[in-house]
Amino acid sequence: MLKATNQLWKLYVFVVSMAFGAGVTLFQSFLYRVLEKETITTLVIGGMMLMIGVFVWTYASITCPNCNLKLFRYSILKVGLGTWFTWLVNLEKCPECGSRDGLPAPVNKRERLKTKRLK
Ligand SMILES: [Zn+2]
Repeated sequence: MLKATNQLWKLYVFVVSMAFGAGVTLFQSFLYRVLEKETITTLVIGGMMLMIGVFVWTYASITCPNCNLKLFRYSILKVGLGTWFTWLVNLEKCPECGSRDGLPAPVNKRERLKTKRLK
């Protein structure tokens, strides 16, 4: 579903930034041997800011275009930290409205028409 709504790239940006941020933090001691102290401090702070920024951005921007459900938030809260990524990549339809490509699901459309007609 993320692919159909052109949002898969956001997930990749998230992964790359997290990897960069984590990498800088993890390899700090190694970086001290090859880089200036100030450069490393900038890198570590930059990496942390990047991680926080990208996290907030991913959190808010990966949504279902049809019902505005925050899919990234949903995946972390409801699916779990171990499986959210695969769940999100393989997501076929929105867990809230059943939309596959950001447009109302066919079933919902029919229901909406029915309610309209009843009114
Ligand atoms: Zn939805």
